[in-house]
Amino acid sequence: MSKVKKKIKTIKIDVDKCNGCRACEVICSAFHANPKYSSNNPERSRIRLIRHPIKDVYLPVYAGEYAGAECTGRDKYVIDGKEYGECSFCRASCPSRDAFKEPDSGLPLKCDMCEDDPAQEKPLCVQWCLNDALIYEEREEEVEEEEKLGDVETGLESMVDKYGMQKIMDTVARLSKKG
Ligand code: SF4
Ligand code: SF4
Repeated sequence: MSKVKKKIKTIKIDVDKCNGCRACEVICSAFHANPKYSSNNPERSRIRLIRHPIKDVYLPVYAGEYAGAECTGRDKYVIDGKEYGECSFCRASCPSRDAFKEPDSGLPLKCDMCEDDPAQEKPLCVQWCLNDALIYEEREEEVEEEEKLGDVETGLESMVDKYGMQKIMDTVARLSKKG
């Protein structure tokens, strides 16, 4: 099987530098509005702030994989004397909470690193974070060609499993009309 180069993009989060301004949510949701920049709804953002000013907790979390079921065991973290909620560090779009779900369709949201837009040197949330709490890094790795396709198939299967084929098809048809 042939190998291909895959670019791995990461955003390192320096929690100590985040002041909870939510600029990252604003730009991400505006970029993903349809048409682009026509509205700004944090619920459409692929990055969300866990925010408890009284406890001095500001934690940016990126939307990751879709999870079809809630997990039954959970973790609690205490870091530098601050206690974080059970789901705080989780990136999943899962049935136990409202985060990372498209408000109109209910479909799961996932950070797309701003759709690989070549016009952007860095993801938008990184550019808009004036406190340098979000640090963009990239590297290259060699992977089997099939692995890339596998990611897409796994995501599709889980969405069909959760929402049914008809809802997925309706949403795709609606989005392609808008695009
Ligand atoms: S833009 Fe930066 S400082 Fe503001 S909430 Fe987002 S991560 Fe925190
Ligand atoms: S990298 Fe882009 S898509 Fe991902 S959370 Fe930041 S602004 Fe949103």
